[in-house]
Amino acid sequence: SSAPEAAQLPFNSPEEIAKINETLRKNFLTGKTRDLNYRKNQLKQLTYLFIENRQAINEACRKDLGRPTFETEFGETQIMINDCVESIDHLDKWAKTENKWAGLPWATHKITVRKEPKGTVLVLGAWNYPLNVQVGPVIAAIAAGNTYVLKPSEISAHSAKLLAELWPKYMDPDTGRVVNGGIPQSTALLDLRWEHIFYTGNGRVGRIVAEKAAKHLCPVSLELGGKSPVYVDEGANLNIAAHRIVWGKTLNNGQTCIAPDYILCTATIQDQLIAELNKVLEEFFPKSKGGAGKSDSYGRIVNENHFKRISGMITNTKGTITYGGQTDESQKLIEPTVIKITSKEDSLMSDEIFGPVLPILPVRNVDEAINFINSKDQPLALYIFSSSKNAEKILDRTRSGSAVIGETLLQFAISQMPFGGTGPSGYGNYHGEYGFKTFSHERSTLYAPDKGIIGTIVEHIMSKRYPPHQKGAAEY
Ligand code: NAD
Repeated sequence: SSAPEAAQLPFNSPEEIAKINETLRKNFLTGKTRDLNYRKNQLKQLTYLFIENRQAINEACRKDLGRPTFETEFGETQIMINDCVESIDHLDKWAKTENKWAGLPWATHKITVRKEPKGTVLVLGAWNYPLNVQVGPVIAAIAAGNTYVLKPSEISAHSAKLLAELWPKYMDPDTGRVVNGGIPQSTALLDLRWEHIFYTGNGRVGRIVAEKAAKHLCPVSLELGGKSPVYVDEGANLNIAAHRIVWGKTLNNGQTCIAPDYILCTATIQDQLIAELNKVLEEFFPKSKGGAGKSDSYGRIVNENHFKRISGMITNTKGTITYGGQTDESQKLIEPTVIKITSKEDSLMSDEIFGPVLPILPVRNVDEAINFINSKDQPLALYIFSSSKNAEKILDRTRSGSAVIGETLLQFAISQMPFGGTGPSGYGNYHGEYGFKTFSHERSTLYAPDKGIIGTIVEHIMSKRYPPHQKGAAEY
């Protein structure tokens, strides 16, 4: 793949943003989005947007991230199409009002839980999967019947531009809009009133979003990042583990929120694991064909800042590079790099790497790994390649947004799995019905008999609650 390119992105003005919010709030109240067929139709339109513009999407992601076509089709377009289709197929079931039985004392009352849209919502996305993490939450917002604004990341400007161009061609502008811009536009959006804000990105901005939302008592979902550990020991099939870890680390050039960040492995297998990782990297990006830099299956770092940040990590570590290590600023290329580190304090162990650099830290045993994981922030994901006994032990004694035994990344693609973090990796979740719930209000509804003979009987029985109170009236 080739180096990412810059793009000119037309930004919306604060006045336009305020007007859009006002229009969407007004249009929500018309009830248009409450109709399930309308929602299904919008999701169908969105499916066509993805199907009919595959090439343009591939091209935009290539320009934004120097990304191989397969990764865009696999990690964005196909997931979005599946998400839309799944939502259309299950919407009737998800949106169905639930009837509740509260026992004999309430037999004369009807109790329901209505699944209602919250209103007008805001989705702010990150650049690393410019469709997936931006349009994904919008799919859930539409399914739940909200009007919405999507603000794509200005860093993935080609994709943001493409979304702004395509959106009005497929989607109803009365109920959903794309707003483009940087921090001033995000700030203008966050100063307005919404009924939910769904933010994907880093924790620093996540805190700004939550603070701004608090002014309006607006609920927030924060999909953040962090350092997702991988634990490997002698219970693993090292060849399979190495394939899956390297794939998880190099997909989208390691710029994946749930990418395996670092490996904790028992000291006894460290050399063997490193040998397997080397073998896999050679298989994926053979040196005889020029290595990762010449491969069509290897992406690039999104921009200069991130390139410098990750290159700096390679320079500053006290560890030993066992694979890769080469960088080329002109192409924003960082070779897949494996680094054997010996200290828990190594510079590679503080911040999320978010690039194709894989540190390996030896531990004595599973208990030391558990203690290490627990000494850090709760990660977004935790990966385990070990015996089932150790895997259960780790699950029982650690915390993470999601946990995967024997694989990497696939939890994102399974819409029956709630996707989200815990602690500093975020709060709230989405995907499939979980996304529908995030953007819905469960409206508790009680129908009490207040007319006719039943109304009169119930009124008589329940009249004891009225003053003046009789002694013992509250006991039953
Ligand atoms: P980013 O810089 O694109 O920011 C995301 C959004 O925040 C953009 O729309 C941007 O305009 C807005 N923004 C930036 N600064 C702001 C400010 N000061 N005030 C208001 N809005 C502002 O994305 P990023 O944060 O670099 O994304 C990378 C991070 O996102 C990583 O930590 C990664 O792990 C995380 N991430 C998490 C998930 C998930 O699903 N949990 C998915 C993708 C990425």
